[in-house]
Amino acid sequence: MKIKQVLSALEQFAPLPLQESWDNAGLQLGLTEAEVSGALLCLDVNEAIIDEAIRKGCNLVVSHHPLLFRGLKQISGADYVQRCVIKALKSDIVVVSMHTNMDNAQGGVNWKIAEKLALQECRFFARKAVEGLEAGSGVVGTLSEEMAADDFVLMVKRAFDVECAMCNELLRRPIRTVAVCGGAGDFLLGDALREGADAFITGEMHYHQYFGYEQRIQVCVIGHYQSEQFTSEVFRDVIAAACPGVRTEIAQTSTNPILYL
Ligand SMILES: [Zn+2]
Repeated sequence: MKIKQVLSALEQFAPLPLQESWDNAGLQLGLTEAEVSGALLCLDVNEAIIDEAIRKGCNLVVSHHPLLFRGLKQISGADYVQRCVIKALKSDIVVVSMHTNMDNAQGGVNWKIAEKLALQECRFFARKAVEGLEAGSGVVGTLSEEMAADDFVLMVKRAFDVECAMCNELLRRPIRTVAVCGGAGDFLLGDALREGADAFITGEMHYHQYFGYEQRIQVCVIGHYQSEQFTSEVFRDVIAAACPGVRTEIAQTSTNPILYL
């Protein structure tokens, strides 16, 4: 199977028109006519990821965050993006990124987060319809049983292997309805409240946005990387379903640039 067929399967699942206007999802670099030897699935592309792809004989890297985002005026190896470009091209590795199109897609990033929390009756919130496709920036669902806020936070920390969650004051009413948005989801806090959510889980949020929501909604911020870490499983399942026989490897390299010391 050719790399371009894998790319088109991913784009069929998370169509590029669903991406935000500022984004650069899709093919990043490389020639897609080649036969795919294996796909390495990851959140970010850095040099360690390209090395892992080489080591594992994968000529396709599928990332969530785009390698090329701000544009390149020069490719000389002056920064890690340029070095990744050089290393990938020299090794005939193709890089594709499924970013906000995957955030907004049915079955995408937020649906995977909801699955990890075993949320039920999930639906989009902050909905958008793009070219007739049903999409949304967040997913809201319900816990099978309501939980006390401290138990809920503990459950979230375990599900995402988080050392420290940044929360506002613990809610004194039970939590049942949960809204999620992977990555930097603070723009959805108001929408989550309007959806009747008792809790809102996201990857990062500005300091000032924590103010004023005490006893209205349980804010639980678990880290950008941690919130989106299972996106590779979405890639894996899409490729397994649409491209049988294509080998996929979830990257072992952690690309989280933040250390918790
Ligand atoms: Zn992200």
